Amino acid sequence: MAGRIPQSFIDELIARADIVDLIGARVPLKKAGHEYKACCPFHDEKTPSFWVSPDKQFYHCFGCGAHGTALGFLMEYDRLPFPEAVEELAGRLGLPVPHEAGHPGAGAGATADADAQRTRALHELLARVADYFHANLARSERARAYAQQRGLTAPIIERFRIGYASDSWNDVLRRFGTDARALRDLAAVGLIIERDAPAERSSSATSAAGADQDAGAGSAAAAGAGAGPGTAGGGEPVAADTAARYYDRFRDRLMFPIRDSRGRVIGFGGRVLGAGEPKYLNSPETALFHKGQELYGLYESRLARHTFERLLVVEGYMDTVRLHQHGLPYAVATLGTATTPEHVRRAFRLVSELVFAFDGDRAGRAAAWRALQVVLPEARAGREIRFLFLPEGEDPDSLVGREGGEHFEARVAAAMPLSEYLVAHLAAETDLAHADGKARFIALARPLLERVPPGVYRELLLERVAAQLALPAERLQQWLAAAGPGVPGVPAAPGAPRGAAGSPNASAAPGASALAAEGRARRSARPSGRGGLVTQAITLLLHFPASAAAVGEEQCARLARVEQPGAAVLAELLGQQAAEPAATLAQMLERWRDRHEYRRLCELATAATLVPDAAAAARELSEAVGRLLEREHGRRLQILIEKARLTALDAAEKLELQSLTLDQGASLGASRPLSAPPKLS
Ligand SMILES: [Zn+2]
Repeated sequence: MAGRIPQSFIDELIARADIVDLIGARVPLKKAGHEYKACCPFHDEKTPSFWVSPDKQFYHCFGCGAHGTALGFLMEYDRLPFPEAVEELAGRLGLPVPHEAGHPGAGAGATADADAQRTRALHELLARVADYFHANLARSERARAYAQQRGLTAPIIERFRIGYASDSWNDVLRRFGTDARALRDLAAVGLIIERDAPAERSSSATSAAGADQDAGAGSAAAAGAGAGPGTAGGGEPVAADTAARYYDRFRDRLMFPIRDSRGRVIGFGGRVLGAGEPKYLNSPETALFHKGQELYGLYESRLARHTFERLLVVEGYMDTVRLHQHGLPYAVATLGTATTPEHVRRAFRLVSELVFAFDGDRAGRAAAWRALQVVLPEARAGREIRFLFLPEGEDPDSLVGREGGEHFEARVAAAMPLSEYLVAHLAAETDLAHADGKARFIALARPLLERVPPGVYRELLLERVAAQLALPAERLQQWLAAAGPGVPGVPAAPGAPRGAAGSPNASAAPGASALAAEGRARRSARPSGRGGLVTQAITLLLHFPASAAAVGEEQCARLARVEQPGAAVLAELLGQQAAEPAATLAQMLERWRDRHEYRRLCELATAATLVPDAAAAARELSEAVGRLLEREHGRRLQILIEKARLTALDAAEKLELQSLTLDQGASLGASRPLSAPPKLS
């Protein structure tokens, strides 16, 4: 691994980069006031809602919510992992990327090169093994018979490069593990397993030498008839005792190479030929293979058609392959994991319609409900999400085999929309004939609705839920809003919350000018309840970084000790800005990329503020911080007074109380309109 890229370099990179140039080279931008706009590259639209701000070095789409810095854009648009996005941006600016000391003895650049080289070597190794498996299938009569029995045709076997791993404990090991380095690489990509490695239960403790093991040695080989012919004997260049530490992961399995979006093999899935267990076996997580991100068949889908509008997400490789074979080349599979948010985001970068297929049994229904919850945050206008439930006892493979591609496609076309599924599921869990049932329905629906980003989609979903309850949508909205403190984005009442239509000066968010009543009403009218002040202060600071100067060092230090969620973050942001007063929004955000607050900060950066300019922002920020400190002051005072009444104060507390009381006198004397004295009762 290369060493970490120092934060100071990211800072400099963002300071030097020009996001308008960068995005402009990929998306045609039009100047609009201080900013630039375009039709969003991340969702389908006819009128531009994608804005790029040169001042903030930030982009934001009001349609789909996409947003980020120059680095973020490269990661999203060019689909680069963070380090590669840094390399790309630095390359454009002619800056070498430094790495913090990683390996002793190697220069930082050399380490990065070595890393890239290693990755390439692993990809090549996987490709060679995939070729070998593929050729192996042609050679094995038994495997070919099995593939045929499963209905796989020669062209589809070719298109997916399906292969066969021999019924041997060391076929791959002997063929590809020719030296110590090769062994290490094979292990790194998960093709061989080290004996007695704790994670591998099936590792055979009885095996001694590198010779083939009998089927009895491991449960996974139970179906096999022991060592296949021609695989006996060691005698390869690697010392027998070294090779003997390992054995092949995949034995007697039909092999499905898993390829990334560029077509590189990153892992394998294996289906056992006979009745052995486990039926399906995947490569483990490796440096190249991340199950939660990859969709099997996506590369092949893109090969089959240049453009398509829909992806059908199924569970297995066999399902995927067979659906492709029957004229549904948009089928993809998750790889032995439930659907993840990353899967969904990947899919929506390519298509606007996503259909999930599930078995009709109980497990399938449970998986569907989990998928619904994962997909809700990605739901928005212009995207279609539907659920297909197969008849009990069927999977896509069996069904498409029996009734053919056209029938299956008709099922896909008739799949249940997300809104219908959601309502049907909740209705099945509640009794809507009674008021109690309705209340329960609302209670169950609320967290789900909250997961949907504000916008047309959420409105429609809300209307659908209201219709189910035979309630006017407005009533439901009121109930939802009343049910708890923050349902951000579910407006308390439709119509015109404050600041809606007439508010003259919009925020400085990119595209504020285009930020129609919708955004303003929803995003800015956040309740100023708990955490409201902190949130407001952070939002101001993000929009107008220079306003940080309005808060003094001493205030900042006191702020860091305020016991309120977010206060410490605010203090830290202020501190960072004080150290580098010229930093842009993009720089501020990049400093937080690896921290869990990052997401929330990005949200606030895209939220609207009604503050017109930096001077006003500075005034409001100063006031917000003042009020926060004042509240903290009152809170501490109250605690100490209460404690003094009940027990006794120690010396330090007495001192603190004294100083708090003095301060209070001072602040009462000062003419600050907003500072009501803290209530003591
Ligand atoms: Zn967009």
